[in-house]
Amino acid sequence: MKIHEYQAKEIFARYGVPIPAGRVASTPEEVEQIARELGKRVVVKAQVHVGGRGKAGGIKLANTPEEARQVASQILGMNIKGLRVEKVLVEEAADIAQEYYLGITVDRAARRNVVMVSAAGGVDIEEVAATTPEKIAKEHIDPAVGLMDYQIRQLAYRAGFAPVAMRGAGAFLRALYKVYTELDCSLAEINPLVVTGDGKLIAADAKIVVDDNALYRQKELAAMREVAEENPIEVEARKRGLAYVHLDGDIGILGNGAGLVMTTLDVVQRAGGKPANFLDVGGGASADVVRNALEIVLLNDNVKAVLFNIFGGITRCDEVAKGIVDATSTVDINVPIVIRLVGTREEEGRQVLTQASGKVQLIPAATMQEAAEKVVALVK
Ligand code: GDP
Ligand code: MN
Repeated sequence: MKIHEYQAKEIFARYGVPIPAGRVASTPEEVEQIARELGKRVVVKAQVHVGGRGKAGGIKLANTPEEARQVASQILGMNIKGLRVEKVLVEEAADIAQEYYLGITVDRAARRNVVMVSAAGGVDIEEVAATTPEKIAKEHIDPAVGLMDYQIRQLAYRAGFAPVAMRGAGAFLRALYKVYTELDCSLAEINPLVVTGDGKLIAADAKIVVDDNALYRQKELAAMREVAEENPIEVEARKRGLAYVHLDGDIGILGNGAGLVMTTLDVVQRAGGKPANFLDVGGGASADVVRNALEIVLLNDNVKAVLFNIFGGITRCDEVAKGIVDATSTVDINVPIVIRLVGTREEEGRQVLTQASGKVQLIPAATMQEAAEKVVALVK
């Protein structure tokens, strides 16, 4: 789950990270008032759960309170990557001499958390990571001992930090690591960490993503959930108790078991297709759950075809087939469905499918590979 920059900054401040003075607001009038109180040049920043706000025009500087009010009226209500800006953060503008990057996330391949730092921070860090990865220094953290001082020195040295940042970055990294571990984050990031004209360090942006599985014990963070900022289909799926992740392709994917669904995504991708989602119907899914799941996948208008991949163990293929057939009569389906059913009661399952009336195109496939090829051919 993501939280807003202003919320992440409040948390960082509690852990001793210097942040610019400022407050969140939801009207241009409030913005003007805050700017007047700050009594300095301010920056007005859109608060939405996506990155790249700067490039999207969601971050603007203002020299006077009147100007702050004016830019706020442009930013509030703006649409950034599909999200409407309801709130802005108004802060004392930083006098930026240098922008650095500090981040911590999970490196699954290394099975460790990884700390990343770069002297090439700011809005183009993704570009840096893609084209000049050597400019990002990394250290993996042994969970038993945590982030060590020698690692901080090595990171700053390898990233080529200027002396002022070399001296000051340690405190930021230690606080960042503390936030990351104590709040069960999957990402904690300061980008940019700004070196000001007079040689001070300040966190100009803050980003925190919390592991959803930890929300039961991160009550303060759980209370920050904003359903309006989330994908509506994911919200609906969560209500129905389904594990659904929205992706940006056009092939709806359903399967039983997270591992099988992940594999299906890979096989479809390799066959040249783009998955529209991840959806695990779970083990032993009943016809009802299957119909429900299919409904969720079809809420996505981008879906041009669906691939059902069922490996029946405790899940009975005939139950799944019944669910699919049920769905064809209760849900308005106008895309073809490719179905691979193997395992427990697969014969009965196939019979259910072949006996179904022909309103919806139900296409059987014998293997996962064949299913992927068929579904990719259908969307092309
Ligand atoms: P993001 O684009 O969503 O990551 O938003 P950021 O908060 O990182 O801001 C993007 C860019 O806007 C920064 O890299 C800065 O170049 C610029 N920016 C943000 N805050 C300030 C500020 O206080 N003063 C100045 N001069 N520029 C700022
Ligand atoms: Mn940023």
